[in-house]
Amino acid sequence: ESRFTSVEQAPPDPILGVSEAFKADKSDLKLNLGVGAYRTEELKPYVLDVVKKAEKALLDKGENKEYLPIEGLASFRSATAELLLGPTHPAIKEKRIATLQSLSGTGSLRLGASFIARFLPGTAVYLSNPTWGNHKNILSDSGVEWKNYRYFDPETVGLDFDGMMEDIKSAPDNSIIMLHGCAHNPTGIDPTEEQWAKIADLCIEKNHLPFFDVAYQGFASGSLDEDAYAPRYFLERGLEIIAAQSYSKNLGLYGERVGALNFVLSDSNSAQRVMSQAKRLARALYSNPPVHGARIAAEVVGQPDLFDEWREEMQGMAGRIKTVRQKLYDELVKLNGDKDWSFITNQIGMFSFTGLSPAQVENMTKKHHVYMTKDGRISMAGLNNAKTEYLAKAIDDSFR
Ligand code: PLP
Repeated sequence: ESRFTSVEQAPPDPILGVSEAFKADKSDLKLNLGVGAYRTEELKPYVLDVVKKAEKALLDKGENKEYLPIEGLASFRSATAELLLGPTHPAIKEKRIATLQSLSGTGSLRLGASFIARFLPGTAVYLSNPTWGNHKNILSDSGVEWKNYRYFDPETVGLDFDGMMEDIKSAPDNSIIMLHGCAHNPTGIDPTEEQWAKIADLCIEKNHLPFFDVAYQGFASGSLDEDAYAPRYFLERGLEIIAAQSYSKNLGLYGERVGALNFVLSDSNSAQRVMSQAKRLARALYSNPPVHGARIAAEVVGQPDLFDEWREEMQGMAGRIKTVRQKLYDELVKLNGDKDWSFITNQIGMFSFTGLSPAQVENMTKKHHVYMTKDGRISMAGLNNAKTEYLAKAIDDSFR
């Protein structure tokens, strides 16, 4: 008998478990809107042309497979910091930024959480309610306490800004506030520029540390700069920030695990010391990050023609999502003009937070073969024009 007979079966992952259930469904009608991965109009996974070109260039160069330094590939690290802040940002010139290449968004968040556990022990991280489910796992497994701030108002299917402000205000001074850089997951609802200004005011007043999770830069609006508005604005206001970046969505490098953790601080000495300690943590967690995807990202960002082409492809992906979003809205209005469906087109990014209850989600899946997370989130990136009418009928039926 195994010594592990007492280990209980873990529940399936609330997001990745949806894909498993989808695979098992034999119906031709089935539609997977669970996981946040971009699909083409034919609902096939998409490898960006610029990625193929960069890979070919790398192959031609005959790159080796040696270890990277603990902090990652130098050309990627400078490229990623410049994408986040803009290439001429003073924090880069003044070397006030510590950037480590890490294992995509998740690994970068995890490294950040380990840093918090070690150097800011006892400090709680405040998460929006709701948030991407893995935030809680990452913090809990790192031994970091987390709490919620209000974010979503089910009445308006919009931002509960007053609740958010109250909760950030009543958090103890020097707390850490996790903020989604853009395209909030799962709600698709972001603060306006005026609201970001008030959140920054409050962070200054309370000496809170903002921790930005930037998983969709360029993917929400199609513009890298527009989607980096919030972290850049907080820096402009004189705040220090931590920011995790992911290249899963905007470069389609999901399985390559390309991302970075940035500490943008007020002086270069601190940045240097923080870097040295973050390296120590990374060494024990995974030693050094994977090389292939970082080379692709550095190549794309570093070659002006590839960079321009990337921006075009990113706009193409963001544009396709906006088109199906609009079409879904139109179809829903046709089916039931009495209900206010404007939340669908007000939300941005990859997801739509439908407000469907768990029982209604079950109806979507059991009756209509539409797979989505239990919180009522659908990935617009998994939808195409041909299926919007079918999806609208399923949603309308489930709401009735
Ligand atoms: N943060 C948010 C809000 C996300 O939605 C995701 C991916 O879905 C991630 C981080 C991390 O993704 P990855 O680890 O693939 O970069």
